Amino acid sequence: MSRCCICGKLYDGIELRGEYACLVVDVESGSIVDVREKPLGCSEKHVYNSASTIITPSFIDMHVHLRGLSLAYKEDEETGTKAAIAGGIGLVVDMPNTSPYINTVELVITKLKALAQKSYTDYSLYTGLPKTIEQLKEIVLTGVAGLKLYPSDYYRVDEKAIEIVNEHGLIVIVHPELPEASKSITSFEECRQAHRSCAWEIASVKLLTSIATRNSRVHITHATCFKTIEEARNYGFTVDVTPHHLLNVSESYNYYLDCLAKVNPPLRDNVERGKLVKALLLNLVDAIASDHAPHSPKEKSYPYLVCPAGIASIEIWPRLLWRLVVERIMGADELLRLCVWGPASILGLDNLYGRFAPGYRGNIVVWEIGFERVDGLEYSKARYTPYWMFIAGGHVKAHYIGGKLVYNKHIGFITRPKTINPFERLKGHESEH
Ligand SMILES: [Zn+2]
Repeated sequence: MSRCCICGKLYDGIELRGEYACLVVDVESGSIVDVREKPLGCSEKHVYNSASTIITPSFIDMHVHLRGLSLAYKEDEETGTKAAIAGGIGLVVDMPNTSPYINTVELVITKLKALAQKSYTDYSLYTGLPKTIEQLKEIVLTGVAGLKLYPSDYYRVDEKAIEIVNEHGLIVIVHPELPEASKSITSFEECRQAHRSCAWEIASVKLLTSIATRNSRVHITHATCFKTIEEARNYGFTVDVTPHHLLNVSESYNYYLDCLAKVNPPLRDNVERGKLVKALLLNLVDAIASDHAPHSPKEKSYPYLVCPAGIASIEIWPRLLWRLVVERIMGADELLRLCVWGPASILGLDNLYGRFAPGYRGNIVVWEIGFERVDGLEYSKARYTPYWMFIAGGHVKAHYIGGKLVYNKHIGFITRPKTINPFERLKGHESEH
């Protein structure tokens, strides 16, 4: 049996907090089989013993746009997940709004196949809202992670659709803006800001409470305002926030002029941003998710009013957040809750991801911790970033998927790993590429 021992300061924030030990991973099944003091019984041994190195479970990004299909010129399943590996992320969940829009059984299967063939990380996909309930009943059996609701769906989704998704152990993930936000008047920047304001964001959650029953498994993604989070939690919904709404992107960029920082929902002022950080520190936020939204460099160079919204950060956002730990703004436990076990729990995967214990997936990141500047991106097709020269709190030194060394900072990519869609695995159909 092929086993890999990975030794160093292990930190999962649950049972292990920096003690030196070795993870033993069965490379065939991709699962951790033991945590022991010495690297015994392994055909491969990798030891990381520098003082600034820490080993954690891979981060999970539950909101990404890998594009692909006819939007592959912006990003595809390979480039987006390679960027994720270099960023420290080992499981991504892709959004359906590529072209064509993914909301039929056939398109869901096509997209899941593309992910199975090309992804370097574990993966899944949210379906868009299909035209009929009958179609939705078929789609929830295909290996999707849940249903994504966009503002334009608010007036045609009903309680029954949410029930069907939840009955299959899946989540409904919601973009909290009102349908009116996309009207043509919003091509004026002031109108875009007004139509995507905190008041409208809160109103969209209130509207949702008229559709979903209390404590449905509904997740509000990229909340940007403190009161949105309060409103969502009062109703029993879970919430994530993005790194770009937390970090001070707008101070470096005049966001009325620079498309690199144009994003929906818009970046808020520093008062609202400060309140979002407060929500994070008060444990009101369940996860951090990137909303990685790449466009081609040419598209992002168009004039501000017509250029597409979206920030692509999958390759760097965990590095930026480690800075909060290095600066002692939050503890490593808290970071891992937001980026590993929080999203695992929301997705219903906390028996498979997020811990260093037997039976858990061998997705493992070796971090080099310390202040450093963010330089160029290497793997995403979106090679631009509003975080250029931002100070990060470390980088990925090595990354393992299923116990297999996939990436090393100095060598680059070593192999494409055997990846899984955990939502197929839960049904007993492990996916292999
Ligand atoms: Zn998104």
